[in-house]
Amino acid sequence: MKEKCCTECGACLTKGKTCQSIYHEFLALELTDPGYGQVHFLTVACYMIQHNGYSDDALVWIESKLRTYLENNLTGPEIRTLAAKDIEGRTWKIKRHENEQQLPKVSWSMTIADVEKEMHDTESYCELITEWGKRTLIDMGPLIERVNP
Ligand SMILES: [Zn+2]
Repeated sequence: MKEKCCTECGACLTKGKTCQSIYHEFLALELTDPGYGQVHFLTVACYMIQHNGYSDDALVWIESKLRTYLENNLTGPEIRTLAAKDIEGRTWKIKRHENEQQLPKVSWSMTIADVEKEMHDTESYCELITEWGKRTLIDMGPLIERVNP
């Protein structure tokens, strides 16, 4: 089986999958099954962080939200309410624009491909996504240093 590696996050994928196709599979699960949906905030945050989806401002913002979420063991609805408040009054862009500075390459200790490989039910999925969130928060240190020195 031929393995291809993602140019953004470095995940190596088989079976003709891409990070984006896995991400879409995950979102479909989360939107149709509330058991999976509890970790929706983390799935989107980790995927966007690891695929250079966020603007500099959004990276600083999401890092603080991830920290609040994970350190206080918030529930999905709690973090969504907090995040929605910030998004409402924001004056900054969420999406990264191509004219923004190049971000340093991070060698992520866990990627969406690792979640996909190990998950087999709701419980394992939520555990893996939470682990992915914790590792992403630690690994994104160099990005935050760059955008918010
Ligand atoms: Zn990727």
